[in-house]
Amino acid sequence: MREDHAVLAIDLTGKRAWVAGVADERGFGFAIAKALAAAGATVSIATWPPLLKLLQLRLARGRLDEALALPGGTQLAFAQIQPLDAAYDCLADVPAEVRDHRRYRDLGDFTIAGLAAAVAASGGVDLVVHSLANGPEARCPLLGTSRAGYLAAVSVSAYSHVSLVRQLGPHMRPGGSFVALSYLAAARAIPGYGGGMSSAKAALESDARVLAYEAGRRWGHRVNAISAGPYASRGAEAIGPIDQMIAHTSRMSPLPRAITAEQVAMAAAFLSSGLASGITGTVMYVDHGYAAMGAPPREAVP
Ligand code: NAD
Repeated sequence: MREDHAVLAIDLTGKRAWVAGVADERGFGFAIAKALAAAGATVSIATWPPLLKLLQLRLARGRLDEALALPGGTQLAFAQIQPLDAAYDCLADVPAEVRDHRRYRDLGDFTIAGLAAAVAASGGVDLVVHSLANGPEARCPLLGTSRAGYLAAVSVSAYSHVSLVRQLGPHMRPGGSFVALSYLAAARAIPGYGGGMSSAKAALESDARVLAYEAGRRWGHRVNAISAGPYASRGAEAIGPIDQMIAHTSRMSPLPRAITAEQVAMAAAFLSSGLASGITGTVMYVDHGYAAMGAPPREAVP
């Protein structure tokens, strides 16, 4: 073997990344931001306005210092933190009561157009991660979901990705990548994941394929999705009994334990990197194999 053989590593040195949907250290977005930074990328985040002040306060008080620690003794410092309400494509779409709300009124352009302007002003982007979702009626079964609730879930959780690709695509440099976070409810019935959230994830995955085609042909960018196993983020806890879901999937999976945010983050870093230059339009499962099973493991059958 040659002494000077190269190590095959994820190298994102010189890449500019934006992760949309980071408000605390517990979610997938934060773990992905860390993984991208650990691979050498400069990372900026976009945060939902109602949680922005709290995040900034916690950062300023050093409450996240431990969570921001990177391998090798360095610490992740976000290049920019942009307010983003992904329900809106441009300021003209924002109702007056939202624009005048105390949590929004001093933030400038907090829409997806505002994020695109920030990206353009900072010289462009290479990697974009969509790690956000919301459904006002997510705790309601689909049969009990209103039209408004359903459309709000699809708007924030799925159309927002179309809008991101559409508005950030022109500012993405060659070899760029979009990754969105999905869930098995896109393809299977998951009791309790309601309010149109399952419909939104199905749309997100279908859109990843169509966007891969359209953004690939137009700009040469890649678009992929990760279908992550259940994980106790703040967002997941707001939807329902996430611990029960984690226990159930752990018991039923080929690798019988809970997934970690780091596992999802490593997959996102891989998909974002040149190592995945041939991969676009896919949904990659990071779920310890749960989705591959067609019947319970034998020891789980009484
Ligand atoms: P999270 O709560 O950390 O992340 C969701 C983020 O979305 C939050 O930061 C929230 O502030 C943001 N958000 C909500 N509404 C928004 C809006 N209108 N505009 C901008 N941002 C908004 O939770 P998470 O579980 O890490 O979720 C990240 C992604 O992973 C989501 O797409 C989620 O559906 C997906 N996912 C989660 C799980 C899980 O079990 N946790 C499993 C599979 C997929």
